[in-house]
Amino acid sequence: MKKYIVQVTLTQESHFDVEIDADDYEQAEKLAKDGVWEDDYTDEIRWSLEITDEHYECNVVECEDCLETYDVFEDECPECLERKENE
Ligand SMILES: [Zn+2]
Repeated sequence: MKKYIVQVTLTQESHFDVEIDADDYEQAEKLAKDGVWEDDYTDEIRWSLEITDEHYECNVVECEDCLETYDVFEDECPECLERKENE
C-alpha cells in the first residue's frame, strides 16, 4: 500500500429559520446576516448542513523510498529514477 493525497471538495448548503427583533424586514435580514458572520448560528448551521456536491481528486502519491510526493500518472518516482540513473 502507498500513501496517496486526495483533495476533497464539498459543496454544502444550510437552511434554517431564526427569529429576529427588528424595525423592518431589511433590518431583520441584515441582523440575520450579521449573526451568521459573527458565529451566532453555529449550532443551526451544523445541524442543517447538507452536502449537495462532492468531488474527490487524487493527483499525488508519496514515494515509499524517498518520501517525496509525485504525480500519480508517473510510473516511478522521478526522484528515485534520477538517483538510479546517476548511480
Ligand atoms: Zn522516491
